[in-house]
Amino acid sequence: MKKVLITGAAGFIGSHLCDRFIKEGYHVIGMDNLITGNIKNIEHLFPLENFEYYHHDVSKFVHVPGELEYILHFASPASPIDYLKMPIQTLKVGSLGTHNLLGLAKSKNARVLIASTSEVYGDPLVHPQREDYWGNVNPIGPRGVYDEAKRFQEAITMAYHTYHGLETRIVRIFNTYGPRMRVEDGRVLPAFFSQAIRGEGLTVFGEGDQTRSFCYVDDLVEGIYRLLLSDYHLPVNMGNPSEITIMQFAQEILALVNNPKAHIIYNPLPIDDPKQRKPDITKAKELLGWTPKVDRAEGLIRTYEYFKKVVSPN
Ligand code: UDP
Repeated sequence: MKKVLITGAAGFIGSHLCDRFIKEGYHVIGMDNLITGNIKNIEHLFPLENFEYYHHDVSKFVHVPGELEYILHFASPASPIDYLKMPIQTLKVGSLGTHNLLGLAKSKNARVLIASTSEVYGDPLVHPQREDYWGNVNPIGPRGVYDEAKRFQEAITMAYHTYHGLETRIVRIFNTYGPRMRVEDGRVLPAFFSQAIRGEGLTVFGEGDQTRSFCYVDDLVEGIYRLLLSDYHLPVNMGNPSEITIMQFAQEILALVNNPKAHIIYNPLPIDDPKQRKPDITKAKELLGWTPKVDRAEGLIRTYEYFKKVVSPN
């Protein structure tokens, strides 16, 4: 049975990847230090013989016995609130952690897929964002710890590819949502769903005219799986190009939850909050035949089912 190491296994995307690789018949080693992950996301896999959990911080030396086919590096604080609270860990997991995993891959002759992000484009001056856009990032702003760690991660991954001939894959992930997002992670969807369910104010930052494009997690996982198995080593955007303002998004969640006490309130816009974001996914379409299948109406219904279980109304 082929072995795959998934870091950030107890996180939102990492746990869905564990499920997928188990379903595909792999032996999965899930690694996490649980600083933002939740063990409940993978508990259902514990009884399986082809699943192992390693509690470990990948910014320290990573040891895995035996052979490894693939490594998927998904460990990192990933919401703006988390990386503000944990700036040093965020920098370390993207830099030292990536270095350790590339070294492990080299020693095992394994293929590595690295989770990069639309944040490498910063507050983009080009719209929609294509992979050949270099971005507009403030290195010393509050998001710099995440954005620059991910940019370094891409650079060192490319260096291992060109210098050592390592098999590498880089996915630039745009806003993704679905079950298992952490209720308190501060990101817009968990914030709006929990506020709507509790009958509180939905905290729209700024005027709510900034845009995002939200991809359902199953679509993302399918794209990542295809990219891993492809022979393409340059970065590939993955996300759903359906763009929406944050105000429209709040309205959609208000309508879905339909709690008469819920309403909209305005909070200040965070520093360096990107004004617009939408992936150009031409490359993923052409290379992998991949496009998102779950539209927002359907994805939000599925996600609401999850938040109903984990958020109790006031
Ligand atoms: N946002 C908001 N209210 C919230 C949380 C976020 O209006 O309670 C806005 C935020 O300013 C940003 C967008 O929603 O423009 C997406 O924020 P998120 O933290 O989910 O991720 P980002 O895309 O900024 O990394």
